Amino acid sequence: MASLTTATRLVIKIGSALLVDRTTGALRSDWLHGLADDVAWLKDAGVQVVLVSSGSIALGRGVLDLPATDLALVQSQAAAAVGQIRLARAYEEAMTPHGITTAQVLMTLEDTRDRRRYLNSRATLEQLLTLNALPIVNENDTVATDEIRFGDNDRLAAQIAATIGADQLVLLSDVDGFYTANPADDPTARRYVVIDTITPEIEAQAGDAGSGLSKGGMKTKVMAAKTATAAGCAMAICHGAAMRPLSALEQGGKATWFTATLDPQDARKRWIGAMKPRGVVTLDAGAVQALSSGNSLLPAGVYAVSGDFNRGDPVAIHNPDGRQLGLGLSRYTAQDAQIIKGHQSHEIESLLGYPGRAALIHRDDMAL
Ligand code: GLU
Repeated sequence: MASLTTATRLVIKIGSALLVDRTTGALRSDWLHGLADDVAWLKDAGVQVVLVSSGSIALGRGVLDLPATDLALVQSQAAAAVGQIRLARAYEEAMTPHGITTAQVLMTLEDTRDRRRYLNSRATLEQLLTLNALPIVNENDTVATDEIRFGDNDRLAAQIAATIGADQLVLLSDVDGFYTANPADDPTARRYVVIDTITPEIEAQAGDAGSGLSKGGMKTKVMAAKTATAAGCAMAICHGAAMRPLSALEQGGKATWFTATLDPQDARKRWIGAMKPRGVVTLDAGAVQALSSGNSLLPAGVYAVSGDFNRGDPVAIHNPDGRQLGLGLSRYTAQDAQIIKGHQSHEIESLLGYPGRAALIHRDDMAL
């Protein structure tokens, strides 16, 4: 299937069991150094890499002398607080010899659901990649309670892949792919090599989320695959235990690939295009021209604003005759957009009292 070095943006999810020895609770530092070699190889090949790493709870609970299983939520949160700082340090120490700068990004479910926060986290991750840093993402476990959490990093990783428009996602796991049945119970179970469409049959083969083992289970992996592929990102499930698991995958190691039909840009445009607008911005002829040549929408090109929208909300983009050209996510509230419309971007700070972004709608946030 897809070669990892052909990816533009690659998200790699690392499960706790790979990083932390289950019996001793110690970090598996040889494995981490092998992973660092793989990340360095991919970055040298020009791939932008983002890691989504578990391990904070597994690392922290030993330090706090908490039991290995059946932690109460607050105990997990405390373990995560202790473990996350160690996890971040371990990554930094492993990556520094390769000249790679690591960045810790802690996310909550809200950060991807709330559009304003979604745009902020997207912008930060973009900036880190532009600066050639290696973002290492985990759930912000210390503030996430049961109702408001991703709960597992398979889904978090897929959401991150969708947020940044990644084209490949690899789940490094303790299974080597997706099977027709659980291979532990059924000797006739076969591993899929490629899955082009997630059919109801595939979903049924993933088993039931209610088994109590859903964390990191096949069900969550299929949910992750749905999120990723709908966002134009191909996803692989493979065994991560080899010393250089990504090199092993590249050399034909066992995996299941879920393919994506759209590319991430087209998927994003389709997603934005299907939103219900909360307001309208009407452009002058110059701005219509600028948009059709692929530019962002600056406040100077807007002569009317209506509706009640927040930062990150979808707005309809109209031409001077009132015909809808498309949709876009506004970087300003309706109120602020009223104030800055028709003005040059350098005037924004004096008009609003804060230095906002130059564009009212960025070209990446538009579907025309
Ligand atoms: N955020 C959790 C941790 O770092 C892991 C969640 C998961 O593995 O799915 O321990």
